[in-house]
Parts: sequence; structure tokens; C-alpha cells
Amino acid sequence: MITTAPELLSDTDAGHHRAAGILRDGGLVAFPTETVYGLGADAGDDRAVARIYEAKGRPSFNPLIVHFADLDALQQHVIWTPEADLLARAYWPGPLTLVLRRQPDTPISALVSAGLDTLAVRLPAHDTARAILRAFGGGVAAPSANRSGQISPTLARHVVGSLGARVDAVLDGGPCKVGVESTIVGLAEKPVLLRPGGITEQQLAQTLGRPLAVRHKAEAISAPGQLASHYAPNALVRLNATDWEQGELRLGFGNVDCDLNLSPTEDLVEAASHLFDYLHRLDAQGGGTIAVSPIPHEGLGIAINDRLSRAAAPRDE
Ligand code: AMP
Ligand code: MG
Repeated sequence: MITTAPELLSDTDAGHHRAAGILRDGGLVAFPTETVYGLGADAGDDRAVARIYEAKGRPSFNPLIVHFADLDALQQHVIWTPEADLLARAYWPGPLTLVLRRQPDTPISALVSAGLDTLAVRLPAHDTARAILRAFGGGVAAPSANRSGQISPTLARHVVGSLGARVDAVLDGGPCKVGVESTIVGLAEKPVLLRPGGITEQQLAQTLGRPLAVRHKAEAISAPGQLASHYAPNALVRLNATDWEQGELRLGFGNVDCDLNLSPTEDLVEAASHLFDYLHRLDAQGGGTIAVSPIPHEGLGIAINDRLSRAAAPRDE
């Protein structure tokens, strides 16, 4: 079926349950939070998460924030710390995102973390967002619901105007109150302000009883681009491999004989959904080189090639 517009959902019990059903089926649902409208997908479904990047048209995979309805569910996916506890008690539910280490066995997609061993999590305060999250029952990955490079949406019609039928449904819950993205605090090591927002650095420092390290703006902007230094495979990576050399770990795309195939049918959404998981798995075999088939440089292929070329870039020792 070819659709030209997303399904519009009302801010009612029926609308919240319909939204949860679409998420469960691997669909994309835009919904309001107190900050901006989020483009939501089941955070445990690699393919649904890959569709977020496709819908946004992002040229690279920066990690996504996962939203939960309750703290117990959230804590199962991260390594909780005393500092996380202080901030959660003071500001959740609310516009604060915490970046913590992933539980090693979490079912949250590796693509959500763009291959990192950390996970950004948040308990939003917006009643509609909470109702959808409760009806869904799990974590929902949700960046702002706009095409890459466009302004963040604070009304349902902004979402429809920007994403159109790239999103399966939009739940209209009226205007967002805050209108700017959540404050992001990294707690994987010493506390660091990763993105300023409505909750100020001073407030956070007071709650923690210590100052935060601040990442400067220029660094913050290029942070997604610097992820290569955080996650590069141990193995060397050889791109655009049209044949395999002796002893190489073979990461294929399309109809090729290989160790792991990103997508035998050349489906870029499927390829993106497997990318980080397969890189990790091949790297774990401890070989010298991972050779990768050529990936078309279009649509999601642009983000896939971006990630692969960072993995293949020369290393500083
Ligand atoms: P958005 O959801 O589009 O508002 O953006 C999410 C922001 O969270 C981006 O700036 C990411 O770089 C940041 N972020 C998400 N997860 C992580 C993580 N694991 N480590 C560092 N930053 C993160
Ligand atoms: Mg955004």
C-alpha cells in the first residue's frame, strides 16, 4: 500500500493504544514530549531503529535517546550509579537525559547506541508520552521528529510538514511546553554536561554536590562525528571489497559468499539494522582485517558508509 500521509492519532486512550500497537509492529510514531515531538520506534527492534535514521535522512548514525515510562524498567538496561540516583530523584520525570553504561545483556539495539557501550535514557514528564510508553511497555528510541537539518518540531503539523509519510503515525497532543531538547549529562565516567538544556549546569552541580565537566560547544556539535574514536573495531577495516583476501573476516552486502551478510537482498534498512552488531561479532573473532562489500552511496547507505569509513580510518597509536 502506498500512503502519502501519516495516520493521525488523537490524544485519547484509543490513540495511545494504537500508537503502542504500531510501535510493537516495528512502525514509527511521532508523539509529543515536554521538549519537542519525538520520532519513536521500539528501541529493541534493530530494523525499526534503522527506519528512524532513514526517515530523518541523517548522514551519520549519532546515538539516540531511549524513553521509558518507569524507572524500574529503565534501570534494567543501564549500569545505575549513585549520581544517576541523585539526578533521577531531583529531575525525573522531566527534560533530563542521562548517559550511562549499557547492561551488557540489554536487548536494546546496538544501533541505538551507534555501537558505543553507553546508553542515553530519559523518563519524560509529558502525560501523553507517558501514556504511550506505558501502553507500549518497553523503551522507545526517539530523536526529534524532523528531517535532518530542519528545525525541531513543537506542533504535530511541524512533524507532518517535515516527515510526511516517512512516519507511520503522528499523535497530536498539542504544543510542546519546553520547546528545546533535554539537558544531557554523561555519567559513564565523571559527570559531564554533554548538551545544555532547560535544566541548568548550576542546578545539576548543586544536586550532585560537585561541578560538572563541560564539553565545549564546538566539541558537542562534532561529538557524533567523533564517535569513531570511541568505537573502532580492533581489526583493520577494508572497504569496497569486491573480492576477499586470505584470512579476512568477510562482511558482505548483496549476493556474495561471506561470513556475515548485512543484507543479501541489498536492503539498506536491513543493512543498517545489522551494522554495529555484525562489526562487533566479527571483531570478537579476533581477526586482522574485516573486509566489507561496497554499499551504495544513497539514502541510508550514506550513513552506513560514513560509519564504515570512520572504522577504516587510520588509527592513532
Ligand atoms: P536528539 O535525540 O536528536 O535530540 O539527540 C540525541 C543527543 O544525545 C545527540 O546529541 C547524541 O549525541 C546524544 N547522545 C545520545 N546517546 C549518547 C551516548 N551514548 N553518548 C553520548 N551522547 C549521546
Ligand atoms: Mg534534533
